[in-house]
Amino acid sequence: MDALYECRRCGVVSRFGEDLCSPRKRQGKEAYCGTAPERGNMCDEMRERLPFVCGICGRPAREGELVCKPWITG
Ligand SMILES: [Zn+2]
Ligand SMILES: [Zn+2]
Repeated sequence: MDALYECRRCGVVSRFGEDLCSPRKRQGKEAYCGTAPERGNMCDEMRERLPFVCGICGRPAREGELVCKPWITG
């Protein structure tokens, strides 16, 4: 899988580091899916339009393929 990023503050994952308030590079979803996401304030960008959340671990994501069981949020 291509590079992806996790936000150090709110735990959102995205392919694009610039979407996140404090991006940290990750190698794959095994590195974070199944772990509890950070509970900081959501990035401003993501709070507006966060499309997915993992149905198993609750991890928020910008793209569904970045989590183990993507659910589309409202
Ligand atoms: Zn998950
Ligand atoms: Zn964030």
